[in-house]
Order: sequence, then structure tokens, then C-alpha cells
Amino acid sequence: MTEGPRTPLPAGGQNAVAVTFGLLGDEWTLLILRQAHLGVSRYQDWREQLPISDAVLTARLARLTEHGLLTRDAYQQRPVRYEYRLAPRGLAVWPVLVAIWGWEFRWVAGRREELPWMRHRSCGRDSEPVLSCASCGERAGPRDVRSVIGPSGEAARCIPAAVTRRRSTSGDAGEAGLFPETMALIGNRWSVALLGAAFLGDRRFGQFQQRLGAPPTMVADRLRTFCALGVLRATGSDYRLTAKGRAFFPVVMTLIDWGQRWYAAPEGPTLVSVHRSCGREFLPRLVCSECGERLVERDVLVVDGARAGAP
Ligand SMILES: [Zn+2]
Ligand SMILES: [Zn+2]
Repeated sequence: MTEGPRTPLPAGGQNAVAVTFGLLGDEWTLLILRQAHLGVSRYQDWREQLPISDAVLTARLARLTEHGLLTRDAYQQRPVRYEYRLAPRGLAVWPVLVAIWGWEFRWVAGRREELPWMRHRSCGRDSEPVLSCASCGERAGPRDVRSVIGPSGEAARCIPAAVTRRRSTSGDAGEAGLFPETMALIGNRWSVALLGAAFLGDRRFGQFQQRLGAPPTMVADRLRTFCALGVLRATGSDYRLTAKGRAFFPVVMTLIDWGQRWYAAPEGPTLVSVHRSCGREFLPRLVCSECGERLVERDVLVVDGARAGAP
């Protein structure tokens, strides 16, 4: 993969994880990127393929260009029309999109019938992404990885600024509602923080509250939401990740990996993860559930579920 230099972040400010969730924890942004990965490059095509307003699309394209995920070139003058292409850091979001697809496909009720399928060209089979360790190639879940807070990882610096979270009365800034469960986990700064805390091993209300530095009513509200989604289960005074919650780990790890690849705080990383069984740094790699080979974008065919199921 071609990688440009990391964007330096200001000392003491938002770290790579905060920047990542601030940028990618937004449903419209993820939907625009998904369409870009499927070949969309012109304003009108996004407009036709997504239930998105002009105001939202214009703002998101500007933001993605400004952050270097898309590049913009005029293909027509008078009036000027632009073509948007995925830059290396936009291309690098692909594992995140695949991880989200994989979780929705397997764990969210009713999604299997609605979502397209993924076919792995290399083995020719319908495939799902499986998280593995890039250092040793073994499959890995949250219990196989030990993560510690890095030098830029203080809780306050992990919280994204709530720039895209405002809901306007016109509904322009509202969510698309196409991935409600994923967005309930990563589309809000307190949800992201709670999810992170759960993966770091917090179990008790007091631990969550302390790590988040959030008002108790906020923590209680998020814990209720997570339990209702079946991502956490309350047992006595403990909140534990369920199988569905643990299965979200690839989404979290691919997001953090993307952030730390492209943004760097001067103090060092936000999070340092080690694969327990090989003892080396844990970097997420998605492999094919069928053949175990690394999944790369050019080897994956997106098959429309509805069409494939038609006679
Ligand atoms: Zn390993
Ligand atoms: Zn395969």
C-alpha cells in the first residue's frame, strides 16, 4: 500500500483516535466512501445513489477532500464539475468498510437479506472477513490482544469534537439510517468512548464513568442502549461484552489502525496493542473466512444479494 506522510497533530490536542472517530464516525461519510469504493466519482452519481441532500453531500465531499481522503479535479468548465478520486488514505478505509459490512451481515437482524455479498475471487467462494494478526497471521479476537494506552491516549484526548453530530431541524445533518446499529456504536462520541472502555476491560458503572469523564446520566443512557442492542449484557453490577459486542472488535481495530497510520500526535501513539500469542505488535489484517488469504480490494467482488437471489 502506498502511504503518504502522517498528518502531524498538535501537541496535547485530539489524538489519532479522536480525529478518526470524528471523521469516520459519521454515517454519510462512510456511505460516500463506500460508493467511492464501488466506483462513484461524480457528485450527481452520489446524489442519485444515496438518499442524501445537496447540503450534506457538498459538506461531506469538502471535508473528505480537505482531510486528504479524496482528491478533486475539474472535468468540465462552465459550469465547473469535479471528479473525486480516492487518495491513498481514502483507499485505506476499505478494511473498515469491510469490517462494518461483516458485522452487520452476521450480527444485525435482517441484514443478511438486504446487504450485498462479498465474493472472494481468489477462492471463488462467498466470503466474510476474519480478523487476524498481521505479524503472525493467526486469527485474533479481543481476548487475544492486549491493548494499553499510549503516550497520547489520555481519555480526554480520545474524545472527538462533536463537529458533525449536530442535528439540524431541517434534517439535513441527520443520519441516513442505513446502518443504525453500527452508528449507535460509533456515531456518537460517548458511545465510541464507552465501546473503547468495554474493550479495554472496564466492567463496572464507576469504571466507565471515570474513564469517560461523562455525566452519570450519559453513561447510564449509553449502557442501556448497548444492552438493548445486545452488545453488552448486565450481570449483577457488571457489564460484559456479548458475542455480538466482541464481534465488533474488527471494526474498532481497523478504525484505530487507520487513524494511527495517517495521523500522529507528537507524544506517540494513542493505543499500543500486542498479540498475546506471538508477542508482537498487533496490527489488524482481514482474511477470507473460506481460504484464509488476506482480503484485498481488487480480489473482492461485491455481489448484489437481491439480484443474485433472483431466478
Ligand atoms: Zn500475532
Ligand atoms: Zn477466499
